[in-house]
Amino acid sequence: MSETIEKTEEEWREQLTPEQYEIMRNHGTEPAFTGKYVDAKDDGAYRCAACGAELFSSDTKFDSGTGWPSFTEPGVAENITTRIDPSLGMVRTEVLCARCGSHLGHVFDDGPGPTGKRFCINSCALDLEPAEEA
Ligand code: FE
Repeated sequence: MSETIEKTEEEWREQLTPEQYEIMRNHGTEPAFTGKYVDAKDDGAYRCAACGAELFSSDTKFDSGTGWPSFTEPGVAENITTRIDPSLGMVRTEVLCARCGSHLGHVFDDGPGPTGKRFCINSCALDLEPAEEA
């Protein structure tokens, strides 16, 4: 993805719901076990709720028990970027949409499988595009 999307905070505020704005533009976190995709098992592609970039695949989603949708790896690696987040007295790795710069969640090194990663993502930063029925 070469094209990035830049909008003013005013434009984001108009486009996103108040909860999405708080999380995606103000780096908030939705309360655990409240998001619509925590227990989602549907096949499909999870897209950025702000710009539509494809971010994660349902193939790598797993039950982390944390209360947030969790993935072992990005679906489209070039659409995801990370940076160190030293807030709240911890050093965490923040996960952002590479296209629009919106906050998605954090990634931790305690995930299952070969990657060992746990991408811990806010439901309201995601939009599931269901796979076509065969
Ligand atoms: Fe985005």
